[in-house]
Amino acid sequence: MKRVLITGAAGFLGSHLCDRFINEGFFVIGMDNFITGDPSNISHLSSNPNFEFIEHDVTEFIAIEGTLDYILHFASPASPIDYLKIPIQTLKVGSLGTHNLLGLAKAKQARILIASTSEVYGDPLVHPQSEDYYGNVSTIGPRGVYDEAKRFQESITMAYHRFHGLETRIVRIFNTYGPRMRLNDGRVIPAFMGQALRGEDLTVFGDGLQTRSFCYVDDQVEGIFRLLFSDYVYPVNIGNPDEITILDFAKEIISITQTEQKIIYKELPVDDPLQRQPDITLAKQLLDWEPKIERTEGMKKTFDYFRGLSKEKLYKREHKDFTNHIKK
Ligand code: NAD
Ligand code: UDP
Repeated sequence: MKRVLITGAAGFLGSHLCDRFINEGFFVIGMDNFITGDPSNISHLSSNPNFEFIEHDVTEFIAIEGTLDYILHFASPASPIDYLKIPIQTLKVGSLGTHNLLGLAKAKQARILIASTSEVYGDPLVHPQSEDYYGNVSTIGPRGVYDEAKRFQESITMAYHRFHGLETRIVRIFNTYGPRMRLNDGRVIPAFMGQALRGEDLTVFGDGLQTRSFCYVDDQVEGIFRLLFSDYVYPVNIGNPDEITILDFAKEIISITQTEQKIIYKELPVDDPLQRQPDITLAKQLLDWEPKIERTEGMKKTFDYFRGLSKEKLYKREHKDFTNHIKK
C-alpha cells in the first residue's frame, strides 16, 4: 500500500484530499495543528484503518515512522482574514514548514506536491493569468505575508528539485470552494452564505467590480491528483476560468439562497486583486483536465452544506468587523 502524508488535513482542501487518496487505495497520514482547521472535517475517518492522524505544527521538526511515497503540503491559512490575523504563522508555515517537508521528502525519497496559489500573481497586470506571468505583488503590503511565503515556497521547492533531484510538483490554486469551508473564515462564499442564512445584508467590498473565478472542490482535487502523477515539475494553474464580478456574485447568492437580503458596501481591502482568471491551457494540455462543475451546481451543494451546520457554528463570530484586519 502506497503511503501519503497530507498536511493541512483538517482544513477544507486537505480533508477532501484525504478522502480522495483513501478512496484510491492509499494509506493516508493526515497532519494538522488546527490553527484554521476543524477536527470535524476528518472525524469520519477516525476509525478508518487506512487513516492515521498526527496533531503537529509543521513549522517544527517532523518525524514520521516508516516509508512515505508522497507528500502533499496543504497546511497554511488561506483566507485573507485568517492570514492577516496570524501573519507570522502564515510566513512560517510557507517557509519553515515547507523546508521541513522538503527535508522529509528527501529523507524518505518521496515525491512532494506543494499548494501554491493565484496570489503569487498578486494584483495581476496580465489577464487571464498564465504560469509564465511573474506577478505584481507588494512585499510589504498586508497580503504580502501570504503571497511572499507562497512565492518563497515555490523557490525553495524548485531549489530542492534542482539541487537534490527531488521529485516536486507545484499547483497554483485559484479560488476554490465547497463543503467544509469554515463558515466564518471570511472568504467571500462562506461570508455571503453565512450572511444569507443569518438574515444579514451581504457585505460587498469596494464597488464589487473586482472579479474572481470560482472552482468547485471536486474539480480542484481531480486536477491536483492528475498533477501529482504527471511528470511536470513547473507550476500549473488549477482553477475555473468562469469569471464573475463580486457584485454579480452577491446577486447570484441572493437568488440561489432565495433570500431577500440587501447588498451593503464596505471598504476594499488593501491590495485586493482587481481581477483574477486562470489561464488553464497548460492543465488542459498536460493533464487533460478542465473543470466540469458549473457554478450554480457547486453553489447549491455548498449552500446545502452550510444550511446543515449547527446554530452554534452559524453564529460563531470570529471576525466581528471584517474590515478591521484589512487596513494598512
Ligand atoms: P484551510 O484554512 O481550510 O486549511 C488549512 C489547514 O492547514 C488548516 O486545517 C490549518 O489548521 C492547517 N495549518 C495551518 N498552519 C499549520 C501548521 N503550521 N501546521 C499544521 N497545520 C497547519 O485552507 P484551505 O482552503 O483548505 O487551503 C489549503 C491550502 O491550499 C493552503 O496551502 C492554501 O494556501 C492553498 N490554497 C487554497 C485556495 C482555496 O481557494 N481554497 C486557493 C489557493 C491556495
Ligand atoms: N469580498 C467581499 N465581501 C466579503 C468577503 C470578500 O466583497 O464579505 C471580496 C474580497 O474583497 C475579494 C473577493 O470577495 O475581492 C474574494 O475574496 P476572498 O476573501 O474570498 O479571497 P481572495 O480571492 O481575495 O483571496
